[in-house]
Amino acid sequence: MKPDIVIWLVRDSCRVVDNPALNLATQIANERDAFVIPLACLEPRRWADQQFGMPRTGTHWARFRSESLKALRADLIARGSGLWVSAEEPVYALNRINPSVNVIKVVCDRPLATEERLENARIEAEGYPVVTHDVDDLFRFEQLPFELDELPATFSKFRKIVEKKPGLAPDPPVEMHELTPCMEQPWPDPVEWIETFDNQLSPRAEVETYGGETQAQRHWNTYLDAKALSHYKQTRNAFCGPMQSSHLSAWLAHGCLSARKIWSDTLAYEAREGANESTYWLRFELLWREYFRWYARASDWTLFRRTGPNDKDVSGDHNSTRFAGWKTGHTNCDIVDAAMRELNETGWMSNRARQLVASHLIYELNLDWRLGAAYFESQLIDYDVASNWGNWAYIAGVGPDPRGGRIFNLNDQADRYDSDQSYRRRWLT
Ligand SMILES: Cc1cc2nc3c(=O)[nH]c(=O)nc-3n(C[C@H](O)[C@H](O)[C@H](O)COP(=O)(O)OP(=O)(O)OC[C@H]3O[C@@H](n4cnc5c(N)ncnc54)[C@H](O)[C@@H]3O)c2cc1C
Repeated sequence: MKPDIVIWLVRDSCRVVDNPALNLATQIANERDAFVIPLACLEPRRWADQQFGMPRTGTHWARFRSESLKALRADLIARGSGLWVSAEEPVYALNRINPSVNVIKVVCDRPLATEERLENARIEAEGYPVVTHDVDDLFRFEQLPFELDELPATFSKFRKIVEKKPGLAPDPPVEMHELTPCMEQPWPDPVEWIETFDNQLSPRAEVETYGGETQAQRHWNTYLDAKALSHYKQTRNAFCGPMQSSHLSAWLAHGCLSARKIWSDTLAYEAREGANESTYWLRFELLWREYFRWYARASDWTLFRRTGPNDKDVSGDHNSTRFAGWKTGHTNCDIVDAAMRELNETGWMSNRARQLVASHLIYELNLDWRLGAAYFESQLIDYDVASNWGNWAYIAGVGPDPRGGRIFNLNDQADRYDSDQSYRRRWLT
């Protein structure tokens, strides 16, 4: 008789702790006397695809993801399980093992954008029942005080509603359930690619950003121990410095650490060290992330069109010379050039720098904002579909910005946040 299998489909949640989807998969497996198989797909749509002639998966993101998956696999093996890494779309991977097992459920995170939604639909259409859980969000769908199609049109409205709603708070992080040990591996050999990927972290990166749950926790503990959180609001806009902002984004984007854990650790820090504007502000920024996640779900495919979710006509062309200058950091605007060179070399730049280079591309180079978003997608170590495309749409004025776009005065900004020019010197010489 074929064994019953529950598939835990790992998307952007490379961790075992505080992972309600993994726990749900384990619970269903226990109730049905089944086994859990964790499956991560390096599917062609992300890994081999291109948009506007640019790869969708760049080397920084890929290095971090391969480290995160290797760490996850080691964790799962230590718990008597394993990780099946497939180079196919989930539905093909499932069909491949279907002759030898009986897939009774596929458990995964709630789709974040159009591709994930369609992917789930294809899995279901093939006859595999799918159940989703809010894994990397602060709030569960059921907790939201509005229907998704009535998501507040701006972040401020969203924040005020969720902050004022009595009793609304992110669930505390959950411990991992005991895993049903895997039977003999029924899946084909793992993809060698994640073993052999040898792109290195740039020695010029300010923070040692290596993938995996342990690395994430280590970094976050260092940040808390240094009490940098107590000064976050004053330092977060600086262009550089390992403690100027939390540098958590890559670990959050790959799901090595949950936003709920950061939230609850921040509350514990406030109880221990005292609350102030800075400690609140990190949670404020996590609410931005949260807003963009629900915004991406509500906007679906309109997030990726030139006119954006607002369906607003905007200018911007695809001039290859201007675009090449921006990408490589040769625009004649030194703050933009420094930031783009940092991005290319490390996969990261500060939030302030991201806003400035986006403003420059859209309003000074008059390029289609989606070129910038696609380039960021191919370069960012912390790329996540909702934060990236949501922020770009916001700055371009086709997203949730009540002012209809953000134009920055780059000289003023450079003078203000890089007054001694140390950031520009660091990246331009
Ligand atoms: C054009 C543009 C593109 C962006 N693309 C991405 C992306 O692909 N992935 C990504 O994680 N962030 C993106 N951001 C948001 C933000 O710039 C980064 O999250 C932040 O710079 C990461 O550094 P940090 O972890 O030190 O942030 P901190 O200042 O320490 O913030 C803590 C966390 O809050 C969240 N956060 C902070 N600011 C934002 C924001 N504006 N929008 C959404 N979440 C936020 C992030 O998860 C971040 O790690 C983008 C911003 C802009 C302007």
